[in-house]
This record gives sequence, structure tokens and C-alpha cells, in this order.
Amino acid sequence: MGRVIIIGAGGVGTVVAHKVAQNPEFTEILLASRTLSKTEAIAAAIGGGRVKAARVDADSVPELVELFNAFKPDLVINVALPYQDLTIMGACLACGVNYLDTANYEPKEEAKFEYNWQWAYQERFRQAGLTAILGCGFDPGVTSVFTAYAAKHHFDEIQYLDIVDCNAGDHGKAFATNFNPEINIREVTQKGKYWENGQWVYTAPHEIHKALTYPNIGPKESYVIYHEELESLVKNYPSLKRARFWMTFGQEYLTHLRVIQNIGMARIDPIVYNGVEIVPIQFLKAVLPDPGELGANYKGETSIGCRIRGLREGKEHTCYIWNNADHEVAYKETGTQAVSYTTGVPATVGALMFLRGEWRKPGVFNVEEFNPDPFLEELAKQGLPWHEKFDIDLEV
Ligand code: NDP
Repeated sequence: MGRVIIIGAGGVGTVVAHKVAQNPEFTEILLASRTLSKTEAIAAAIGGGRVKAARVDADSVPELVELFNAFKPDLVINVALPYQDLTIMGACLACGVNYLDTANYEPKEEAKFEYNWQWAYQERFRQAGLTAILGCGFDPGVTSVFTAYAAKHHFDEIQYLDIVDCNAGDHGKAFATNFNPEINIREVTQKGKYWENGQWVYTAPHEIHKALTYPNIGPKESYVIYHEELESLVKNYPSLKRARFWMTFGQEYLTHLRVIQNIGMARIDPIVYNGVEIVPIQFLKAVLPDPGELGANYKGETSIGCRIRGLREGKEHTCYIWNNADHEVAYKETGTQAVSYTTGVPATVGALMFLRGEWRKPGVFNVEEFNPDPFLEELAKQGLPWHEKFDIDLEV
């Protein structure tokens, strides 16, 4: 037991392939993606014949089924794009394979971040005796596990959750996105949304912002945006009176983003140009720097964590749990920058949790529904150490 297929050969897939290959518990590893040459290049860089390479169109259930039946994996790690989540889950059900991903399903034609589509598979996975682990990157992923850990060990009731995501790295480009530009721009240009007093509160994009201080980095302007883990966390922790997600953006980045939107380049509907249908945001992706190639000159750190306020023995307490990752260190180990690294390492750790039987139960689950302790212990060993501070001013 330990046969795994990784789907997707982008920045995150590169990290997962490297990390999985470092862990002997994964006995057979296949990296499959849309472009065979990319999977072959990653497998060759890892060397030793440890990772095999294949081509698959993950939009096609029959192609996936053929691949799964030939390789017979125990687990599929889906690090392709969110558009492929449902076809891959469908193929897993058809072949009796367990599933793990890092991003919730999105329909191509509408930027809509909801777990409903994947939660709808709950009964089918349960009846098949298969495990589906949703959102096992950093955010969602580690942030949700940090929350579960704090709720388990530090509080009787968690009431206020602020997830804070800072990228203080500099890649030297005028404008680039740290992961797939299409997915990234769809995410950060949407309306703001957070949970308060039992309902969702909507804001204009980037309306709420303030400077927050990040460990080893200092103050950075941070903006409330909607992020998918909020949906499952407010469901799984009904004691939360408020839950928000903050992300840092530089002024240059926001100016570029505003121009991109104002001139229509962020559109996700097709337009006809010279008799050919193109989707502006997909064209934009083709001319922007490839996030996978930013690593070589990336300097600085990311800092992502949870700032939590709640009650213990009737008294109010605060807790801040976070990880800092260094772009240059990530690049030295895997040839990718820290945003891909901080996503690929937790996906690998989630897969290890599954193989060890720690995170295995029939059905479809978000990561906070599993035991956080073995995951966080392993996360630190696999390259993402984390820290905690208590009863400090959370600034939020
Ligand atoms: P990339 O765009 O770099 O890589 C995506 C890969 O998926 C590419 O290799 C692409 O193939 C492949 N792919 C796309 N469509 C198909 C298809 N139909 N069949 C097979 N393969 C396909 O993205 P990233 O590596 O940056 O991100 C991967 C995933 O990780 C995304 O879902 C993203 O949302 C998620 N993510 C999650 C984070 C978290 O913390 N939870 C943070 C960052 C990312 P090709 O090379 O041919 O284009």
C-alpha cells in the first residue's frame, strides 16, 4: 500500500512529486498531467526512476478511468486546476480510489467558490468506503488544521478567527501571480465576504484593509477577501461569531489588477477576435510570467497563520499560530517558490496521513474534520515548521 497518482505538473505538482519521492512510504508514484513533456521533465529532475510520467486529460472521466485501472493507485493527489475536481472525484468513485485535493471545485464559466458541488459526493464516497480529503494545501489546508488544533488544545470555544496570509517575497517582475494566474485573479478580484453573527457580510473588493504585523516581516497592508476555507470552518465551528481572511497586496499589484479589470482583461466569458473565440483572462495567462518560473529570483518570506480569540474556563484568551516559509529555501529544495512549496508540502503530508490510516474514513471531509495532531507533527518534519504565541494583541 502506497501507490499514488499525482495529477497536475504545475508549480504545486512539482513540489508534491519531489516531497512524495522523498518519503519511502510512497512505494509507486505516477505523475500525470495534460502535457507529457512537463511530467517527464519533473520525473527526470527527481531522478532514480522514482517517479513515472504519464499524460492524461483530467477533464475526461474515461481517460482518467483508463489510467487509474492501469496503475491501480490507493490515492489520487489532485493538484491540477479546480475545474478538474469533479471529473477526478467521479473517476475515483468508478475505480475505487481515494482522493485528496488543495482547492475547491470551480465552474469555468463563473468564478464561484463553494464546497457544495464536492460535498454532494459525500454519500457516494461513504457508501463506496472511500476517503476524499478536501482542501489540503496551506490555505485552505494548514490554516484549517491550525484552527482545529487551537480549538482542540487551547480553547473551550473559539469565537473570532482571522486567517492572515502575507507574501513578503519579491520576484523582481512588475506584475506576476504566485500560482495559476486565471485562478488567482478570479479569486482576488471577487467581492469581499466574511462571516459575522450567523451570516455572510459582503463588501466591495478590497474595501476593508489595515496594516497587520507579520513575524520576521513587519507591518504589511492586509485586505479582507473571501477565501474558501471560511465556508467549511463556520460550518464545523458553529461557535465562531466572526471569521475573516486577510491577504497582503502591494500597491503596484493592486494598480495592475485594477487596470487589468478596467480594460476587460479579467473577463472569463469568450470574445471573438479575428474570427477566433478567446477568453481574455486565459489570453492574459499566456502573456504573464509563468508562476513556476518565478522561483529563481524570488527573495523573502511568506507568513500564513490564524489569529484566534475565544474562551477557556470562562476567560477570554488569544492565540496566534503561523508558519513562515522562505522563497529561496523552497527553490533550493524543489526548484519552485514558497507559494507552491507551502501548498505541495501539506498535500504530501495529507497523503501520508491517509496512508498511515490517521486520516481515513468513508466520505468527503474538509481537513479540520480529521485529527490535527499527527498532521502538524509531520508538517514540521517535512519542511514547514510552525509556531504559537498566546495572549497577545491580535491587531484584528
Ligand atoms: P499550475 O497552473 O502551475 O498547474 C496546473 C497543472 O494542471 C498544469 O500542469 C496543467 O497542465 C495541469 N492541468 C490543467 N488542466 C488539466 C487537465 N484538463 N488535465 C490534466 N492536467 C491539467 O497551477 P498550480 O500548480 O499553481 O496550482 C495547482 C492547484 O493548486 C490549483 O488547483 C490551485 O488552485 C491550487 N492551489 C492551492 C493553494 C492552497 O494553499 N490550498 C495555493 C496555491 C494553489 P499544463 O501544464 O499542460 O497547463
